[in-house]
Amino acid sequence: MSKIHELSPELTNQIAAGEVIERPASVVKELCENSLDAGSTRIRIDFIDAGLKQVTVQDNGSGIAKDQIDLAFTRHATSKIATERDLFNISTLGFRGEALASIAAVSHVEVVTSSDNLGGVRAVFSGSEKKLQEDAASPKGTKISVSDLFFNTPARLKYLRSERTEILKIVDIVNRLALGHPDVAFTLTNNGKVLLKTNGRNDLRQDIANIYGRQLAEKMDVLKNSSPDFKITGLISDPNTTRSNRNFISLLLNGRYIKNYRLTQAIIAGYGSKLRPRRYPIAVVKIELDPLLVDVNVHPTKQEVRLSKEQELERLLTTSISEALEKTPQIESGLDN
Ligand code: ADP
Ligand code: MG
Repeated sequence: MSKIHELSPELTNQIAAGEVIERPASVVKELCENSLDAGSTRIRIDFIDAGLKQVTVQDNGSGIAKDQIDLAFTRHATSKIATERDLFNISTLGFRGEALASIAAVSHVEVVTSSDNLGGVRAVFSGSEKKLQEDAASPKGTKISVSDLFFNTPARLKYLRSERTEILKIVDIVNRLALGHPDVAFTLTNNGKVLLKTNGRNDLRQDIANIYGRQLAEKMDVLKNSSPDFKITGLISDPNTTRSNRNFISLLLNGRYIKNYRLTQAIIAGYGSKLRPRRYPIAVVKIELDPLLVDVNVHPTKQEVRLSKEQELERLLTTSISEALEKTPQIESGLDN
């Protein structure tokens, strides 16, 4: 066996990137989450060739100061937490300081940003190396373009699915982020064609109409309930408007889109016998709770979380849904498809 040695920063970044950046949709998710954390009210996402040629995310958020660009692209460097206590009290979507370093390790990145309206900066990174930084005109906010994703990791490129599947994954994550943040105006385009446009006027029903269709959105019931620990809000379909899988149930925990089988089942359980077998509702359910009750630091992608009062939340979800549906009679015909 050869001697033990430390890996180069380039190599460790590439290894770490594998955990956070699985596919073009991961780039979109990480960049949009950064835009949301930066307090943006407008986020525009453009991609070309399923995101492999290019993904650009432009926001009107806080921007990055000139002298912070290098740090923004350094692994485990973040402006979002500082102490161990902060780690258990996360109120931002990001906190691991990994995304930009990971993205830059496996692509070419251009960032144009300004933290005020006075002067901006443009920087170019490629395979973890900074190639250029210069002054550049920029409105307040940040525009990050990621090109030739996985150009230096051919195995990852091969693992990707069809162009169509990768596009659907991008659309899915932007839809969920938009549903989680109706106060932010999202625009998504593919090769210049608009796939989604939300107005940012805090109108969830309107956003659901844009994403799932007007007729469906208009029929959805309002969900609103709370307990000392949780506040639940959202819109849910009636038991006759269903789909054949659970993918139309979006769970947003303190603004973070998460995947959680048990909470999803608790929502379905609220429909009880009103649902036909193997049919699932369309629902956007937002849960607000003290960040101290959630551990987000479970997986690098942060889509999985651990909750310290999960059973209490499951029960609250089930009863809130069944109460919201109480007035809905069971009828045979519906909007099923
Ligand atoms: P994290 O989000 O976990 O902090 P990232 O690698 O995603 O790590 O980003 C590193 C840092 O760069 C962030 O903490 C933030 O300060 C800054 N940053 C990244 N994207 C933006 C953006 N769109 N607007 C303002 N600041 C940003
Ligand atoms: Mg981030």
